[in-house]
Amino acid sequence: MQSTPPAWRTFRCEREYIVNTYLDIVFDLPLDQSFSYRCDAKGEAAPGKRVMAHFGRRELLGYIIGGSNTPPAFPQADKIKAVRRVVDKESVFDHAEIALAKWMASYYLCSQGEALSAMIPSGRRAGTNLSLEDDFDNEDNAGNRLELSAEQDEALLGIGAMADAVFAEKNTGQQKTNNLHIAYLYGITGSGKTEVFLRLAERMIQAGRSVIYLVPEISLTHQTAELIGRRFGAVAATLHSGMTGSERLSEWMRIRNGEVVIAAGPRSAVFAPLRNLGLIIIDEEHDGSYKSGNTPRYHARQIAMHRSSQEGALLLLGSATPSAEAWKLMEEGSIKRFSLNRRLSGGTMPAIVPVSLQKTSGCLSAELKEEIHQTRLMGRQTILFLNRRGFGYFYHCTACGFELTCKRCSVSLTYHKSKNKALCHYCGYETRPPLVCPECGSLDAGFTGFGTEFIEEEVRNTFPELRIQRADADTTGRKGSLREILKRFKAGDIDLLMGTQMVAKGLNFPGVRLVGVVFADTGLHLPDFRAAERTFSLIVQVAGRAGRFFPDGKVIVQTLRPYDPAINRACALDIEGFYRNELNQRSVLNFPPYSRLIRLVVRSRQETKANKAASQLASLAGTMLPSGAELLGPAECPISIQNGNHRRQLILRGTSINALQQLTRNMQQQYEKETGVYVETDVDPVQLL
Ligand code: ADP
Ligand code: ZN
Ligand code: ZN
Repeated sequence: MQSTPPAWRTFRCEREYIVNTYLDIVFDLPLDQSFSYRCDAKGEAAPGKRVMAHFGRRELLGYIIGGSNTPPAFPQADKIKAVRRVVDKESVFDHAEIALAKWMASYYLCSQGEALSAMIPSGRRAGTNLSLEDDFDNEDNAGNRLELSAEQDEALLGIGAMADAVFAEKNTGQQKTNNLHIAYLYGITGSGKTEVFLRLAERMIQAGRSVIYLVPEISLTHQTAELIGRRFGAVAATLHSGMTGSERLSEWMRIRNGEVVIAAGPRSAVFAPLRNLGLIIIDEEHDGSYKSGNTPRYHARQIAMHRSSQEGALLLLGSATPSAEAWKLMEEGSIKRFSLNRRLSGGTMPAIVPVSLQKTSGCLSAELKEEIHQTRLMGRQTILFLNRRGFGYFYHCTACGFELTCKRCSVSLTYHKSKNKALCHYCGYETRPPLVCPECGSLDAGFTGFGTEFIEEEVRNTFPELRIQRADADTTGRKGSLREILKRFKAGDIDLLMGTQMVAKGLNFPGVRLVGVVFADTGLHLPDFRAAERTFSLIVQVAGRAGRFFPDGKVIVQTLRPYDPAINRACALDIEGFYRNELNQRSVLNFPPYSRLIRLVVRSRQETKANKAASQLASLAGTMLPSGAELLGPAECPISIQNGNHRRQLILRGTSINALQQLTRNMQQQYEKETGVYVETDVDPVQLL
């Protein structure tokens, strides 16, 4: 890639350096308004710069979003304070970002200051284990170009043509033609989606347009970002959470100054201040990390949809396991689907075998033990996938497989030992756990669950001769240690790698023959309507780690529910069947994508306050509920106490997101908050824990 200045620089918009007497400033606070300040330093203030200013008794970082030379009506001119200082020499935000923040504030019901500060989050850690200079995967094709397969070629041409049409539409000012502006690259794991993304990016840049390339926030996918760095050189920028605040800001300014035409990174890279945007790519579109866990709880896909339609860019999503939302839109034809069906590195999809744990004492079935043993004899390697720390326990009958779920919400009931009650965390329904199975009358029924420590111990005891390594958040917290582990695994110094999410995605090792999913059901028992979708996608993704280079991959999926449709369809790789069934379920139960949700979480150190606030909000909602909307709850959150805070939730459900947003805004205005009570608003929630 050459680093000659791209053509689009010439029509980049001029920055307006307005010097105003009175500045409108917003802060990273949940206050839905701007504040007037003066700036006494001549010529320094401009929209998009940051300032330090007194706010109450504190001094805070604020953002200039506008200004005027005539004094505001309120407060009186002589009461207006001056900012302490202007932080930036150059504006950090352009009008486009300020406008985007305004839209975000209205969509996610946060303040504009909160939205702006989410755009360049400050780095949490200095230095990082995320920058894997030595790539585990693509070292062989970093420089030389791969010959595209016919499928890849077809996708490249089709998607490229769509991008051109979307762009042309914007430039000729013809809004509202029938051109779709979202495409989906749907391809099995290992089918070469990355190469198609990279070629499209190159094509865009050659045509003078810029590109945003989003990857999930998992350590290993940073290899994609590195790959982009190598492929595009100086005109690429990476923004990731491993960077310090100042590293991030300096990358941001390079983008803002037009030195960069492709920006890559996780979630927040969707805000990259590129101009003349032609393409936004979201790799692994289904991934949960695209949704922010803090205010504003934005989803990068939603921001990307807004930006791409505003800026005339094509939005390209990609995954082997699309989100149910995206699948529905593909079926309806409002997202255009391009498919890749073949693996390209000499592998085939592995055989995936579901194995029942019903009659196994402990957590390793005879089948899994035998395969681990065989794999070792062949001199190959095993990955054992443990679900993220098992959450709670679920009611299960060993005799007939019965499980206790809420009649109304069809999610698992959670056992609360202290109260001896099983309860639904959506609607608040509670019941005493039955002593005998309600289905078959067996006494062999009750609440069960596995912990990861237990599993690790059993694996080590069963295979003392194997070199076993565990990789999860606890063992890889230290800088560089995950990378170290993966290096050793690649070199063959580890026989069996055991871990949580970290081993589920992105790994591409020729030595791996066997993948074992120790307990596929864990996720199914979470009180969440997306439980089946997550379980399905996880099995398919984990299975994708086997058989990438040789056609002898094997996957064993252990489960207490061998007949569960999500597990069965994942094992059969019956992707279409799964979505058909899942969408049907969602439709019957009126959950997204057939409805929209806003979730309000109330928290307080004092349980009585939390309860009171939740019921106040519920009765407010009750009086204002628009037609087509309903209130679920209030109920305890599944995680009912977190860091000493009692958590209660209300879920607003309806057909129109606008109506729900308006309702929530009204509730926010009318609700009189007590001290020590906090209310979090989550528009389009993804996690309901
Ligand atoms: P996906 O993202 O679809 O899971 P990847 O992009 O990781 O798949 O590609 C899987 C493997 O296929 C990689 O090792 C990649 O180098 C290789 N690959 C991609 N395209 C080609 C091609 N046209 N010819 C040969 N190998 C390819
Ligand atoms: Zn039973
Ligand atoms: Zn319920």
